[in-house]
Amino acid sequence: MDPAKRARVEAWLRYGEELGVAPYFRDRAPLLYVQAENEPVASVEIPMAARKSAPARPAPPATPAVALPIIPIAPGPSLFDVAERVAGDTLPRIREDIGDCTRCRLHKGRTKIVYGTGNPNADLVFVGEGPGHDEDVQGEPFVGRAGKLLTQMIEAMSLRRQDVYICNVVKCRPPENRLPEKDEIATCSPFLLRQLAAIQPKVICCLGACAAQTMLGTNQGISRFRGEWFDFRGAKLIATYHPAYLLRNPNAKGEVWKDLQKVMSVLGLQAKKK
Ligand code: URA
Repeated sequence: MDPAKRARVEAWLRYGEELGVAPYFRDRAPLLYVQAENEPVASVEIPMAARKSAPARPAPPATPAVALPIIPIAPGPSLFDVAERVAGDTLPRIREDIGDCTRCRLHKGRTKIVYGTGNPNADLVFVGEGPGHDEDVQGEPFVGRAGKLLTQMIEAMSLRRQDVYICNVVKCRPPENRLPEKDEIATCSPFLLRQLAAIQPKVICCLGACAAQTMLGTNQGISRFRGEWFDFRGAKLIATYHPAYLLRNPNAKGEVWKDLQKVMSVLGLQAKKK
């Protein structure tokens, strides 16, 4: 493993140790870490046990692959278990625990922590990546251009923003809207998991690759699994493209609408009449 990647993994494991918990994928099916030659990022198969309606895929082309060491499964509770074990956890309590957070470098550039907003008893939670400029200023998720599109998507499902809950993987804006780093995600995502455990939605809809990959513990590209159902601790999880991607690629709106229609069918919703 290259030294930078090793350092990130070690930092993440140390963080788990400090919390007294094991890596949160410990109770998943064994993951296969495969690094193709000349491929900088290891691709990780989603554990098939987690897939609900995975269609049979053609076998990937034979790539020369080297097995990377699999991190041993640590004894003890996983981060997910910890989320469940915070007795009587509530959204206000989780917000209180976040406090005026300085746990990772993102705090240095933020204006406001963007915690999450909406119905604390929502059947449907949307999880995005992290705040952008408008969200950072207003302290509320998805209020910029992508947010306006998300609002339209929610309304097309015959819901209102206040019917659902909206939050992000990281709660502070990454500088220049860059992708959140692995260690920032590892630091912040336990709060997301607690939010989800407190809300107990029927459906979690991940918006974009960052949310989907974080929730499913995979590096696979989102186009490989968007629109498929996964089990996530008693909730049904689906990933679709991020509204910001749709602003750049309006042709993908049809695919997203198909994904949202799957959500509507699980929640017994009828499309809004025009
Ligand atoms: N993009 C996100 O992923 N989250 C927001 O809150 C805003 C834009």
